Amino acid sequence: MSRDVLLNFNESPFGLLPEAASAARLAVGQSGRYQFVLAEQLREEIAAWHGVPLAWVSLYPGSNRVLHYATMAFTSATAPLVVASPGYAVCETAARLAARPVRKIPLRADGSHDVEAMCAAAPAGGLIYVANPNNPTGSITPHRDLMDLLRKKNPVTTLLIDEAYLEFCDQPSLLDQVASDASLIVTRTFSKIHGMAGLRVGYAIAQPASLSLIHTVPPHDISVPGAAAALASLKQSEALAERKATIRRVREAFMAWLDQRGIAYTASQANCMMLQIGRDGNQLARDLAQRHNIHIGRSWPEAPDWVRVTIGLDEEMEALQSALESTLFADAV
Ligand code: PLP
Repeated sequence: MSRDVLLNFNESPFGLLPEAASAARLAVGQSGRYQFVLAEQLREEIAAWHGVPLAWVSLYPGSNRVLHYATMAFTSATAPLVVASPGYAVCETAARLAARPVRKIPLRADGSHDVEAMCAAAPAGGLIYVANPNNPTGSITPHRDLMDLLRKKNPVTTLLIDEAYLEFCDQPSLLDQVASDASLIVTRTFSKIHGMAGLRVGYAIAQPASLSLIHTVPPHDISVPGAAAALASLKQSEALAERKATIRRVREAFMAWLDQRGIAYTASQANCMMLQIGRDGNQLARDLAQRHNIHIGRSWPEAPDWVRVTIGLDEEMEALQSALESTLFADAV
């Protein structure tokens, strides 16, 4: 049986960079100790990398954790969570578990966030969550729209910009706005372009007053191998730039194939996108897994005939293309 092709969870197909993998291996041998100093070093490196004070950087075992904590901290029975539809579900799931109100705002036709509607949905407090690029669509919201959102929203409403996929595109970060806006939180992760999803390292950058509301106890609670790998990975800017270029090339080749086959897709600038396949997306995902060992993402309830696909290596996308060819177009011959 052929090897499973994993295009389902938006990880990096490249895995850890070799320098990160050796640092992690070495660190396993030293993991009998807490090694708090390593997390501190990583915070310092991240602060220097982004040019922000150390006190603005908080580490988490994956950025999901900070999305959860921020939802708990900044929403209440009267202060809603505002998210895009379709969008990344962690904040919404956390809000629903805690019975907090959720307002879902459809993406605009070009895949960008409808910042005016999002602003209007949280007129007096709460949390607006924007992933840029967005998951599952991979689409981006232009910087000027996010600046508008920041300017126009009520200052008591918190804005969380999730930049998990930002390294895959050429969009500017909103990090440089943190200095002048205490209501802004920006999150990043080592799970995507760094290829460290299983090591669980993410972080938030915000002014200390906001960060203090989303601290874990104890703070900066990441594993020793995770910290060591992240420290090593951060230094590999050339290799990271190569990864970005490769993902873009493979994504564009896949899009060209989709155009050729007449399959609509979202305007992705990241390592995931949605395809409109004209049938139940979750069923297609099951079929591809069962018949071809190819695992793609899921559908969203609001778009049942769309399905998410992660961009993988050339050969993985070729395998997906031929599986889609035989599954979607078999009757057409
Ligand atoms: N934010 C977005 C938009 C994601 O798609 C994901 C994971 O898929 C995450 C955050 C979570 O990343 P982490 O592995 O850092 O928890």
